[in-house]
Amino acid sequence: MPESNNHLMDAIVALCKRRGFIYQSSEIYGGLNGFFDYGPLGTELKKNIRDCWWNDLVRRRDDIVGLESSIIMHPRVWEASGHVAGFTDPLVDCKVSKQRYRADQLFWAAVVVDGKTVGYVSALENERTAEELQEKAEQLKRKKAIQGKLEPVQPRDFTEAKPEEIPLIPSPATGEPGSLTPPRAFNMMFETYVGPMRDSSAVAYLRPETAQGMFVDFKTVVDTTRVKLPFGIAQIGKSFRNEITPRNFIFRSREFEQMEMEYFIHADADWLACHEEWLKWCQEWLKSIGLPDSHLSLFEHPKEKLAFYSRRTVDIMFKYPFGVQELWGIAARSDYDLKQHAQFSGKPMEFFDEATKKKIVPHVIEPAVGVDRIMLAALCAGYTEDEAPDEKGKMEKRIVLRLSPRIAPYKVAVLPLIKNKPELVDFAQKLYRKLKRKWNAFYDESAAIGRRYRRQDEIGTPWCVTVDFDTLEKEGQTFTLRERDSMKQTRITEADLFALLEEQVY
Ligand code: ATP
Repeated sequence: MPESNNHLMDAIVALCKRRGFIYQSSEIYGGLNGFFDYGPLGTELKKNIRDCWWNDLVRRRDDIVGLESSIIMHPRVWEASGHVAGFTDPLVDCKVSKQRYRADQLFWAAVVVDGKTVGYVSALENERTAEELQEKAEQLKRKKAIQGKLEPVQPRDFTEAKPEEIPLIPSPATGEPGSLTPPRAFNMMFETYVGPMRDSSAVAYLRPETAQGMFVDFKTVVDTTRVKLPFGIAQIGKSFRNEITPRNFIFRSREFEQMEMEYFIHADADWLACHEEWLKWCQEWLKSIGLPDSHLSLFEHPKEKLAFYSRRTVDIMFKYPFGVQELWGIAARSDYDLKQHAQFSGKPMEFFDEATKKKIVPHVIEPAVGVDRIMLAALCAGYTEDEAPDEKGKMEKRIVLRLSPRIAPYKVAVLPLIKNKPELVDFAQKLYRKLKRKWNAFYDESAAIGRRYRRQDEIGTPWCVTVDFDTLEKEGQTFTLRERDSMKQTRITEADLFALLEEQVY
C-alpha cells in the first residue's frame, strides 16, 4: 500500500485519470478549480451509485416518491429558505499574496514559552494541523532564540481570533503577520440572470441544494398523488456552491450532485425515533454498496451549534485519507421550511389529516448526501495494492479496486483465452452479447490473460470469465470464473454465472 495518506490520495487521483474515472474540467485550458468531468468509467460508477439509492429508496419502498425540480427556481425561494441572507462562509483575504481562505479552515495558535506569548503560528486545516502548528511553534522559538519551556499549542480557527490578535497571526501563504483581514460573510450561491435584462430584477441563483424543490412542490405532490403521512419526496440532481476553497479532489467542489430526501411526518409523531430510523437506514445502505463499517462513524452536532429550526443533526462521517469528514447529514428540520414557503408565497403548505380531520403542517426528517462524496469514499476504501505473479511467475505489484458488485462500472469481463482461435472468440463473443443485455460487461482479447485480469482488477470488475479449451472440449460447457479480490479460479456454467450476477448485482 502507499506509505502515507498523501501518497494514497495521489495514487487514487492518478488511477482516476489513467483509467477514465475523473478528469479536471476544461483541462486543455488549464482546468477550472472546483469543477470535474467524469470519464467513461466514472460515469458508470456514479450512475450505479445513483441507481442503487433510487431503487432502494424510491422504487423498493411504498412511502417515497421521486421528483426532479429545476435547477434555477424563483429567487424568492432562496429568500424564504434563508439562503440569500445566511448561506455564507467566513472569508479571509491575505492582502499580500491575494490568497483567500475559509476562516474556519485556517487554524492558528499562540506560541507560549514559560507562560508568556512570544508569537503566533498558523496552518491550513489538514489531517495533522495540530502537529504542524506545534512544529511551527518550535521553529519560531528556535528562530527567535528564546530559552524556556514551550507549552503545547492550543489550535483555534480564525473565527475565534480576537480583533487585536488578527494583525499578529501570520498568513499561511507568506508566513508573516499583518496581511490577513478579519473574516467577512461570503454568500456561496452562484448568481445568474434570467431573460434579456441584466439588472437586479433578473437575478436568479443556481440552486445550492436540491431540498428546496421538495418543499416548494410539496403541495403539488400531495394533490397529484395519493401519498399519506408519513411519506417522503426524493430527488437526485446537481447543486452549485461557490466554495471558497474547493479541495480534496471531488470531496468539496463547486458543482456536485446531491441525493436528498424529505420525509414528512405528523407534527405529533415521535420524530426522534424516526430520525434514528433514517440514521440506521443510511448507514446500512452505505454498507450495502460496499463501504466498510470500520470507516464509518457518527458526529452529533452539539445542541448550541444547531440551526435554530433544527432539533437534531447527526452526520455520518467517513475516514478519507485526508481525515474523517462529513459524508451524509441527517437532520430533523421541524416544520420550518414548509412554514417559510407558506409565509413567503401566501399559499398554505398543509396536509389534510384524515384521522383528525384537521389540516396540519408536517415536520420533516432530511437525509442529504453527495454522490461525489460517496464515489470518493468507495474509491478510497476500495483502493488496494498487493502482489500477484506475472506471466513468468515473478511477483509484481497489483492494483485492485475493491468495489462492491452493486456499483462496479463493469460487472464482468469476458475473455477468450487466446485470440487466434476462432471457436474461442466466437463463444466468448456470444456470451458477452448475452450478458450485456442485462449488465455492463467488458470484452477483451488482447494481451496475455494475466495482463487482462490485472486491467480489470484496477477498474474494480468483480469477475472475469475466461472461455478456454475446456469450455469447448469438456462436457457441461463451463468457463473459468476468476474472482477479483481472492484471485481464486473456479469453473462455472452459464446458468450459474447468470444466477451469481442476479444475486450480487441488485
Ligand atoms: P460541508 O460542511 O462539508 O460543507 P454541508 O454540511 O454544508 O457540508 P449539506 O448542506 O448538509 O453539507 O449538504 C448535504 C451533502 O451534500 C453533504 O453531506 C455532502 O455529502 C454534499 N456536499 C455538500 N457540499 C458539497 C461540495 N461542495 N462538494 C461535494 N459535495 C458536497
